[in-house]
Amino acid sequence: MKPQTNFDLVLFGATGDLAMRKLLPALYQAHAAGLLHPQGRILGVSRSKFSREEFLAKVGRDSKIHIKNIEDAAWAQFEQRIDYLSLDVGEAADFSALADKVNQRPDTDAVVVYLSTAPKFFAPACEKLAAAGLNAPKVRIVLEKPLGTDLASCRKINEDVAAYFQENQIYRIDHYLGKEGLQNLLPLRFGNSLFEPLWNKDYIQSVQITIAETLGVEERGEFYDITGALRDMVQNHIVQMLCFTAMERPKSLAADDVRDEKLKVIQSLKPLNDIDKQAIRGQYAPSAGLNGYAQEHKVPVDSRTETYVAIKAEIDNPRWAGVPFYLRTGKRLAGRTAEIVLNFKPQPDDGKLYAAVPNRIVISLQPQETVRVRLAVKAVGSDRTVPAEMVLDLAQAAAGRRAEAYELLLREVIDGRLNLFNRRDELEAAWAWLTPVLEHWAASPVPPHLYPAGSHGVEAARAMLAENGDLWLEEQD
Ligand code: NAP
Repeated sequence: MKPQTNFDLVLFGATGDLAMRKLLPALYQAHAAGLLHPQGRILGVSRSKFSREEFLAKVGRDSKIHIKNIEDAAWAQFEQRIDYLSLDVGEAADFSALADKVNQRPDTDAVVVYLSTAPKFFAPACEKLAAAGLNAPKVRIVLEKPLGTDLASCRKINEDVAAYFQENQIYRIDHYLGKEGLQNLLPLRFGNSLFEPLWNKDYIQSVQITIAETLGVEERGEFYDITGALRDMVQNHIVQMLCFTAMERPKSLAADDVRDEKLKVIQSLKPLNDIDKQAIRGQYAPSAGLNGYAQEHKVPVDSRTETYVAIKAEIDNPRWAGVPFYLRTGKRLAGRTAEIVLNFKPQPDDGKLYAAVPNRIVISLQPQETVRVRLAVKAVGSDRTVPAEMVLDLAQAAAGRRAEAYELLLREVIDGRLNLFNRRDELEAAWAWLTPVLEHWAASPVPPHLYPAGSHGVEAARAMLAENGDLWLEEQD
């Protein structure tokens, strides 16, 4: 189908790292695949006093290198879409110039304003956009993370933006929602009759959600040290993975029906009352020739910032009562994965007929998108059973061009679909659940546990599962 939405995309922070590495490459890919309206225009905006040509030269230098399979003819056409305006968020007059540019094309269907800038600019940018008349219903505002650093700061951002834009004009980015593997959870659960009857406390022993990285903080020590793993990964990506895993069947696939069900999951999370036992923080220590976190560039040697978190969560509703949800993320771990593991209870006959091989479903979002189901099968020449895995490779199962998360999200905004973006109440509920952990850690005299760089993480997190008789996936057979 031909792209329907004739758009202007106003990209604030157009000279920045995110724009160059991710957003402009994503827009090029959409363009090259014929998925942008032929008249759609990209208007780069930032402080630098570039002419259009100078900006294009920068894009050619800094962004093109991040694009695979570039075609010269397609790139030349892509450049035709791009314009540039020097604008300082502090200067009201610059917004009048922006409005003049946008109003040159009154027939557009959508004006997407992407704020790829530090969050401190969200409020002044929204205020001045509105003052320049750039908050009409066809204007959509995209907010990059981080959306706050705790509940109070998240609320403040939301209130500031809500003063000028309706909730259905606001697109809060969590790029995990752009991943096919995560989106696939809903059809897997609600489009098949096979799994849903078992997807509850009667059959499931425990759930694990992991995002593990092999990289350390690299050159981002300064940013990371004031952020930490909980803010960087848990409050957003892991909570979203939890929502898709645990939510009830939505009334429809309309954005608010799905978001209502996600919100109910977050609101049903039991408060973390015994934080030292339920939320374990760690920091990587030097090992096997790798730096420890405290030795990284621009990290204070006495930093207490967590590079690892493991949380034992519980959802207080009839479907999940009593089922532990173990959530963890960390840097400098043994492998790079993002996965959801459902561990099933053993057979009710307690192994009388066959030795227990508990079933397990592992849904991987990266590095591959797969669903793996662990089953018992008969050993050859014997009545014994042995474990085996049934593997569904989603890239093979559903053939077709797979877009990077940012490309998909940008196309969704242009087309005005809110499904893959967080609503205000979801984010605030997630912060309400996790802010006490941050406050507890800030006040605690106990430093994070150390774990060797390149390992599977903190020993205390292993012990937290062992108390329940559970094991992390890498320790299971
Ligand atoms: P960055 O490289 O520091 O770029 C900042 C951008 O903001 C530049 O284009 C800069 O323009 C512009 N800017 C600064 N002050 C301005 C002002 N007063 N008026 C108008 N524009 C101004 O930052 P980034 O890494 O691209 O990140 C942007 C946002 O995305 C941040 O909130 C970051 O946390 C978030 N984010 C980044 C990444 C990433 O991978 N980089 C990933 C996820 C989220 P000039 O250069 O012309 O001054």
